[in-house]
Amino acid sequence: METQLSKESLASPSGRRANEILRRCVHCGLCNATCPTYQLLGDELDGPRGRIYLIKSLLEAPDPDRAATAQTHLDRCLTCRACETTCPSGVAYGELLEIGREVVERQAARSLWQGLVRRWLGRVAPSIRWFPRWAALGRWVRWALPSGLADALPRRPSRLAVFSADEHRSSPPAAAARPQLGLLHSEAPAPAPSARRVLLLEGCVQRTVTPATNTAVVRYLNARGMETVTAQEEGCCGGLNLHLGQTGQARRAMRRNLDALTPLLDQVEWIVSTASGCGLTLKDYGRLLADDSKYAAQAARAAAMMRDLAEVVAELDSEESPRAADPSASRGAAPTWRRVAWHSPCTLQHGQRINGLVEGLLTKAGYELAPVKDAHLCCGAAGTYSILEPELAERLKRNKLASLLAGQPDIIATANIGCQMHLASADRPVVHWIELLPSPTA
Ligand code: SF4
Ligand code: SF4
Repeated sequence: METQLSKESLASPSGRRANEILRRCVHCGLCNATCPTYQLLGDELDGPRGRIYLIKSLLEAPDPDRAATAQTHLDRCLTCRACETTCPSGVAYGELLEIGREVVERQAARSLWQGLVRRWLGRVAPSIRWFPRWAALGRWVRWALPSGLADALPRRPSRLAVFSADEHRSSPPAAAARPQLGLLHSEAPAPAPSARRVLLLEGCVQRTVTPATNTAVVRYLNARGMETVTAQEEGCCGGLNLHLGQTGQARRAMRRNLDALTPLLDQVEWIVSTASGCGLTLKDYGRLLADDSKYAAQAARAAAMMRDLAEVVAELDSEESPRAADPSASRGAAPTWRRVAWHSPCTLQHGQRINGLVEGLLTKAGYELAPVKDAHLCCGAAGTYSILEPELAERLKRNKLASLLAGQPDIIATANIGCQMHLASADRPVVHWIELLPSPTA
């Protein structure tokens, strides 16, 4: 694509980067075919190619009217990056969108209400201190809240949340306190002292809404000889602010998080996240903080050590002897739930490009995978999207649930807290996949 970016745009590193990305696009439109918002709305400006044009035009010549139009269409973008997976020319749409959102925030004003809601979300949702308080308060006044916000509130702590990760670290759970749904199939051995350690990210929303996920991870990794440590001062990874176009706030969150994580990095092999959205952001720290003279090296190091939980489990499996890796030789009882519909979050399949790993682990553990149509399409959760664009998010959720349930699964598994909360209205349990893996026996 030919570009004529303004001198002002080309004066900044982000403007020059945008120019490089734009020039790769040959405007073939293939990406529109896999874009969920284009499929729903049928408007060129609600597809990736149209959004790319909008960003290009603002970088070429600022214009308040065009900026207002661009704001509407960029706000409707889910940041799912399905278009990036489809694009044959390797256009880094996600990166371009980040730049575009920053430009739009500078060029177009928002209504007072929109501005307030976005600022509030950018402060509260990623706050480990405030999110649980606001979530509890929100449950009391749900009836008075706008529908998008009311639906996004967690209705109750995870049905499987019966003991905390800290409790598990010090002792195995009592039989009576085990999850009622029978998802953890065998008594995990007490954590053994181990030379191998990982740094587990507890997440800001996940630790409040689905603490069972972190409990299951600790249990599983301990049983496989890996000790988990957590950073007391861990904060939000910055992903939520990035989604909202609050780049400065996102970078501040990243630096704070690095201050908390860096002192522990010498003691661990990997940093592990169970939320694919947080994992993706951490993997991108090197790029996002590349021009920060103080934090660039720490950011690159943390990014290189970051692993999704599926990568860690697969790595542990590959290190085992073939006999021990045989599920019938090393695992506990057969799974209670047989048929699983797997929902791969966009941040896992399009962002981290991890495909097939979880499916392989579930199959190996004895589950049958139900077929899921249009698995590449976003469920509509997308960070704060379900709050800010409730109608589109609801339509995407309905379509996704229909695809997931069509194969008659007993249970739905996913890998990101946002998707798990968004899909929780399904008529069967929605869990993190690690809760389905039987703990290895000693
Ligand atoms: S598929 Fe790639 S090259 Fe084609 S229009 Fe979309 S972004 Fe541009
Ligand atoms: S990120 Fe998703 S919603 Fe946005 S343009 Fe790409 S495919 Fe469409």
